[in-house]
Amino acid sequence: MTDDLAQLSAEYEALIQFLYLAPVGLVQLDADGEIAMINPIAAQLLMPHSRNGGLDNLFVALEDIAPDLRNLCQQSTVQSGKICDGMHVHLHAGSGCSKRMPQILSITLLRLDASRIMAVIDDITEQVRRECRQRQNDAWLNAVLTGITDYALASLDSQGRLCEWNPSIGRVTGFGPAAEGQSYTMFYPNDAITPERALDRLREADADGWALDESRLLRADGSAFWGSVMIAPLPEADREAADGAPSLPCEEGPAYCLILRDVSDKRDIAERRRREAFSDHLTGLANRRALFDAASQEFERSRAAPRPTAVIILDADHFKAINDRYGHPGGDAVLQHLAAILLDFFREVDVVARIGGEEFAVLLPSTDLAHALDLAERLCARVALDAKSFDGQAIVCTISAGVAVALDGHGGVDLLIKQADQALYTAKRAGRNRALAWQPDTVAAPQEALDGA
Ligand code: GH3
Ligand code: MG
Ligand code: MG
Repeated sequence: MTDDLAQLSAEYEALIQFLYLAPVGLVQLDADGEIAMINPIAAQLLMPHSRNGGLDNLFVALEDIAPDLRNLCQQSTVQSGKICDGMHVHLHAGSGCSKRMPQILSITLLRLDASRIMAVIDDITEQVRRECRQRQNDAWLNAVLTGITDYALASLDSQGRLCEWNPSIGRVTGFGPAAEGQSYTMFYPNDAITPERALDRLREADADGWALDESRLLRADGSAFWGSVMIAPLPEADREAADGAPSLPCEEGPAYCLILRDVSDKRDIAERRRREAFSDHLTGLANRRALFDAASQEFERSRAAPRPTAVIILDADHFKAINDRYGHPGGDAVLQHLAAILLDFFREVDVVARIGGEEFAVLLPSTDLAHALDLAERLCARVALDAKSFDGQAIVCTISAGVAVALDGHGGVDLLIKQADQALYTAKRAGRNRALAWQPDTVAAPQEALDGA
């Protein structure tokens, strides 16, 4: 019997301790609101709001801020269980509560039996503020995603695949939900970006905080527009690089944010100006300056992520004789014809430039020597077969080409172009109308031969 009593007393002690230490306010009251027991947190929360400065009766104490409490308890038909659950009570400035106003209490009333009610009281001010901020953020994001008309916003996974489709993507690009899971390169024309360069942009975003680029992009209906594409890493994303088996899109969560904007209006003017500075007036191709700029950029990229960059330099054969026979306008027409073939033959990501009178150069990102040589040989064959009709005559023109490759962006643009030039000189000496690749034993061409090649 003594043992039972001791145990009971220990349990009672533990219960009292629990009531005192519980992180919420606990009050035991009777059906009229008279308080039988109250823990320190409840006293702390309620005292400042008590109408009469005392805490004998909960209904009286909270008359000003929760006048319904008495009715609620008296009208409740619950025999045992919740009378109300998490009722929010807003404490306004006039109620005597402290500086951080307004404060919000949550009150839950539990009927224990006919004469006892337990009140659980919690200060939920911060929680409600957080929820409110979250709702505002959600509303803001939703407005951004659906309300703005000239931006598309999307999240990308670590491989650059679209995590989910949303209306802003549809509005700017015309692509539907099938875009989900595709690489962001889907907005670019077919060969305007290499997979390596697509990953470069993600790496650039990782390193610098963002990567921005302006390119000609395509809508779903095939129409072109100038797009500004910004990629920024998401701060809390799981950035584990999927260097093993390819993962499913967004399996590991969104890693980047993509902001795509149609800047066609502004770009048209800027592009015209850029063209004037960077293009050749006769053919409309890039000029020498634009080629060197593009090559330097590509070299910088391939130093960060090694891959081969090829250059083909080609020169019209016996062009002087064409000028002599058909006149300068005939020669000009052939040069324009060659330019059109080159643009048609190479990818959009390749940079085709006119770097001299009848001399052209093509920069081929992510292309090895064998592939570039194969392209150059096929190009020679095509040009030889594709005569230019001029003044009722067919002008046949052949070209010779030299090919060189830099493996990882080292050695510099100048060296690469010099090697391609030497290979071109060798092709001329070998009989013209052919393509040759630079080899370590390719003889250096005399400077005057290169100038007049
Ligand atoms: P090779 O096969 O060795 O290259 O012989 P080629 O006659 O093509 O080379 P050469 O350097 O002796 O002559 C190039 C000619 O190209 C001379 C120049 O008058 C002509 N040329 C340069 N620029 C233009 C141009 O813009 N229009 C025209 N019609 N001719 C040009
Ligand atoms: Mg020539
Ligand atoms: Mg020449």
